[in-house]
Amino acid sequence: MSTTEKPGSQVISPRGSDTAAGGAPRATRLQAVRGMNDVLPDEAPLWQRVEDAARTVFAQYGYRNLRVPVVEATALFVRGIGDATDIVEKEMYTFADRLNGDSLTLRPEATAGIVRAAIEHSLTYERPQRVWTMGPMFRHERPQKGRYRQFHQLDAEALGFEGPDVDAEQIMMLARLWKALGLADVSLKINSIGDADDRLRHRALLIEHFERHRDVLDADAERRLHANPLRLLDSKHPPMQEAIRLAPRLIDRIGAPARAHFEGLTAALDAAGIAYEVDARLVRGLDYYNRTVFEWVTGALGAQGAIAGGGRYDGLAALLGGKPMPACGYACGIERLVLLLREQGGTAHDAPLAYVAHAGDAAARMALAVAESLRDRGHAVVVHAGGGSLKSQMKRADASGAAVALIIGDDEVAAGTVTLKPLRVAAPQSAVAVADVAARAASYAA
Ligand code: AMP
Repeated sequence: MSTTEKPGSQVISPRGSDTAAGGAPRATRLQAVRGMNDVLPDEAPLWQRVEDAARTVFAQYGYRNLRVPVVEATALFVRGIGDATDIVEKEMYTFADRLNGDSLTLRPEATAGIVRAAIEHSLTYERPQRVWTMGPMFRHERPQKGRYRQFHQLDAEALGFEGPDVDAEQIMMLARLWKALGLADVSLKINSIGDADDRLRHRALLIEHFERHRDVLDADAERRLHANPLRLLDSKHPPMQEAIRLAPRLIDRIGAPARAHFEGLTAALDAAGIAYEVDARLVRGLDYYNRTVFEWVTGALGAQGAIAGGGRYDGLAALLGGKPMPACGYACGIERLVLLLREQGGTAHDAPLAYVAHAGDAAARMALAVAESLRDRGHAVVVHAGGGSLKSQMKRADASGAAVALIIGDDEVAAGTVTLKPLRVAAPQSAVAVADVAARAASYAA
């Protein structure tokens, strides 16, 4: 990822005009905040490919778009995500509103906001709802490949659904998205973390187990041992791995309702032909999950191999002051999908069909008219702007990626034709009547 400013570009600082006055030294260049990236025009087509594929899949499963604010009351995330989590303990961008002192937070994830909106607008009053959203999330993490401070998620939530069929549906949606994007080397891990009383019973066992391995716990684990021992299973701290491997498995001890739910999920996945691994250590980084948790992972992105994760959160609505509402959802990192696509040689283009070069005032007017008539038919057309010789305009035409150049000079104006030059295949240029330009140009479309 890169920043858009080139050396020597003029940058205006908040005090730029003061310092620039009277030949003073140039203002210092401003840069993007660390871990928050620009997506440049050459990179954007792959992003759009991911977003378009996701929109199609959401629609295919009857999920409807819901947009929630980027800023929410801090309490929403503290209550929703849980205070003994990495996100709430150290990763939130929290600030006081200057006007009234309210504590606000840039959303670190979308689910809490969506559930807040569902409660606030009684969205599930009459019937359950399937919704999706996408956009930026903010976590103060150590930036590295695949891990950023502003990152983007695709997010789907099924609100008010109890059975494991929607859990399976969401996993299948993601499988369909991978297929639509042509992603290989992705696999699925699932687990059940049971119901609240299952976890309560398991707590004591886990605390006892990790107390016997106290020598390997790091500071986070020490702190969470009594607050939230399940979270220790998520630790990447190398000395703890053996103790984690030996820890009692919650999934072996979950009660009958959670067991039946899990069996319903695996039966649906088996029927759909979706392969999975049951990973008893999968707990996920947010506290609100129960029963199903899942994660799609790839081996291709090193340590940042999680590309999507989700699960059931039947207790979240009540935590946020709403009526109990069973629900299941997932979030998928767009940056990681783009990285994975790029690694697998994926490309996407946003080249126009035609680039119109022109010389002379009458030709400039005709260029605009021809371009509009092509756009009327749905084609993308770039009209050269900024003057320059026809030769230099043809260089721009080539760089634009257009399939054809349309060249208009005095001769063309007089004849009412356009010179059409194919740019991507070896074919001669030819004079084409204005009425035929769209069809002829389209015949060269990539
Ligand atoms: P989570 O909300 O932590 O379950 O994350 C869901 C998905 O979002 C992950 O599987 C990643 O693909 C992506 N993700 C989470 N955190 C980051 C981050 N800091 N930078 C980039 N992608 C992220």
